[in-house]
Amino acid sequence: MFGKKVIILEKHFVVGGLNSFFARKGRKFDVGLHAVTNFPSPNSGKASPLLRACRQLRIPFDSLKLYPQSTSRISFGSRDIRFNNDFDFFISEIEKNFPKEKDNFQALLQKMDAFDAYSVNVPDLSTRGILSNIFSDPLLGEMLLCPTCYYGSAQENDIDFATFVMLFDAIFKQGLARPNLGIRALLDPLVEKIEELGVKRLMNSGVQKINSVHGVATEIILESEEIFTADQIISTCGVVETEELFNSSKLNSTQSEEGKFSVIETISVFAGEPSNFGWNETIVFYNDSEKFRYEQPKGSIDLSSGVICLPENYQDPENEGIKEARLRITNPANFSKWTSFNHEEYKREKEQCASQMRDKAFSYLPNGGVQKNDFLSATLMTDTFTPRTIKKYTHHANGALYGSPQKSRTGTTPLKNLFLAGTDQGYIGIVGAMLGGIAVANNRILRPV
Ligand SMILES: Cc1cc2nc3c(=O)[nH]c(=O)nc-3n(C[C@H](O)[C@H](O)[C@H](O)COP(=O)(O)OP(=O)(O)OC[C@H]3O[C@@H](n4cnc5c(N)ncnc54)[C@H](O)[C@@H]3O)c2cc1C
Repeated sequence: MFGKKVIILEKHFVVGGLNSFFARKGRKFDVGLHAVTNFPSPNSGKASPLLRACRQLRIPFDSLKLYPQSTSRISFGSRDIRFNNDFDFFISEIEKNFPKEKDNFQALLQKMDAFDAYSVNVPDLSTRGILSNIFSDPLLGEMLLCPTCYYGSAQENDIDFATFVMLFDAIFKQGLARPNLGIRALLDPLVEKIEELGVKRLMNSGVQKINSVHGVATEIILESEEIFTADQIISTCGVVETEELFNSSKLNSTQSEEGKFSVIETISVFAGEPSNFGWNETIVFYNDSEKFRYEQPKGSIDLSSGVICLPENYQDPENEGIKEARLRITNPANFSKWTSFNHEEYKREKEQCASQMRDKAFSYLPNGGVQKNDFLSATLMTDTFTPRTIKKYTHHANGALYGSPQKSRTGTTPLKNLFLAGTDQGYIGIVGAMLGGIAVANNRILRPV
């Protein structure tokens, strides 16, 4: 948009990265998208990060055709907190379920308001520590950690306070929505815009190496051995993965910490509407005990906590009377285990895990246990992806969902003209990745600080 000559080099043959799409048996699936966060509330005005991203990318917000969630729930055994896109409803749920924590919750809201989560110099603080100091009933803190960690923590069993504040705002204060075309609604206009602006986009073009001289990147070598030069480079493949590209030139030996948290997800396509089974909620975040567990499991999967998503329960009028719908279930999974299986073991383990994941999810869905057999006979197909799949298609070390626990807010690297954008810059999710990219392009390329 500002006169720079730009080339995009992408290793995969499809756009979207962790938030891509695929087709199986004639059906289209989104890989990532459970929810577009930051759905602007009527009073969020121009400050809404999603509206800001659309404005800066010149994509009309209305063209995304986003529809809000119905109701979602955080469920820890017998304790539930429900939420929708009305923040007052969420507050009322907290006050109803944790009446003694009413003032403490207000104190948390004030603390978050006073904290500049978007600052590049933000301190690294433990949210678990902060929440346990604020609440007298630790369960409330654990319940708030669950959705925020699942939607953006690169650390195990905690989330840094800045990311917590951003995600709390994105999920609860603003809200969740889904475009009626799924992730393509966001990707297609971006691709069209890129083409319209004459940006060259090379797919199947993995970068193998970045050469440098005196701390300046000089050459980009593709896996095909083709060589490109550029005055400035923005890398969105992750901090550890980017370091590997320029460390191979032996001029640097930086090694950031690899992320470990990854997931398995099983998607069941079933005949009918979710409401036929009495399932009217959009997302359920669950945890079996009073202490939230968010870590790489020792075995291939951890069923004790997870996320259940019914994408057809967004309030899209086209979802009325639909003939088939999807149930998506996500659980923590161990990358090394999944990569150690041979082909047969991998297939078998995927099937077994998918079945256990469904059984567990039924126990958190209304009448789930009773409906199990009906649901299984209504199931038309199932597809399951694992940390191995995530690694295969995005090349993130350990199939890590949210990259490295070490984030670089400024986007700088040891090479003067190489910058990071996306997850490892510390801006999370679809909206975060877009805004982070815009910030790096503005602050490092167009108006260097
Ligand atoms: C199962 C799942 C569910 C999710 N659900 C949601 C959700 O509901 N809402 C939400 O907001 N976010 C969600 N996310 C998170 C979201 O997908 C990520 O935060 C976002 O995609 C990060 O964008 P990114 O640009 O930083 O990196 P990525 O999306 O990882 O993109 C990196 C790109 O770099 C390419 N690449 C890697 N190595 C090379 C190389 N050497 N050369 C060239 N190209 C390379 C990859 O192919 C990829 O296209 C989900 C993620 C997953 C996996």
